Amino acid sequence: MNIESNQYIDRLLQKHSSHLPEWIDKLEQEAKSKHVPIMEQSGIAYLLQILRLHQPKSILEVGTAIGYSALRMHDVLPEAFITTIERDEERFKRAVANVSDFGVYEQFELILGDAHVEMDKMINEQILFDCVFIDASKGQYEKFFEAADVLLKPGGIIITDNVLFRGYVIDDSDVPKRYANMVKKLQRYNDMLFENPSYISNIVPVGDGVAISIKQ
Ligand code: SAM
Repeated sequence: MNIESNQYIDRLLQKHSSHLPEWIDKLEQEAKSKHVPIMEQSGIAYLLQILRLHQPKSILEVGTAIGYSALRMHDVLPEAFITTIERDEERFKRAVANVSDFGVYEQFELILGDAHVEMDKMINEQILFDCVFIDASKGQYEKFFEAADVLLKPGGIIITDNVLFRGYVIDDSDVPKRYANMVKKLQRYNDMLFENPSYISNIVPVGDGVAISIKQ
């Protein structure tokens, strides 16, 4: 991954971010102070640009954390309905509080639970989405994708964050032992995206690597 180009985009975004509302900075600070991982600036900027182009009316997010990306998505698509799943109770509670503070709770369904279980329930209820954003346990992306595929309308998009994981997915010659298994899984996941005949996928090396997969 070209780290320099990412740093350049981050610097540009930072330099020109004075027009961004204060709540964005507040949520970024909250995430930082509580060591909650949220999307990187260049990654979220790219994700939001894809959403502006695609204009989904319904979005399923796998991995809410404190509601940062969900609220950023709402900000660019205020008419869209966002369903988002988080299994960590403390983060879920912060997400509920943050969305409530925003006064837009009716545009959201925040679910506390394991995404595998919750997505299976949605499959049974035959719920469909225009867009699924996968941003939870990286070792389980293939399973999330399988469920997302069933929940996605034709023409819909699946967006996956962290598919290049710190560049280790591109060059795995020096992966710390604790990440080795996850990196292998991400490499397999990326192969699956490109081999899957039902999707046209591409990966953009912004943030931690973002994959966009369009369902045929
Ligand atoms: N999308 C968020 C943002 O950018 O603001 C960040 C999400 S964070 C990278 C990933 C979150 O997924 C964590 O809060 C974690 O607890 C949650 N998570 C991981 N595996 C999960 C699962 N199987 N079901 C539900 N949540 C999960």
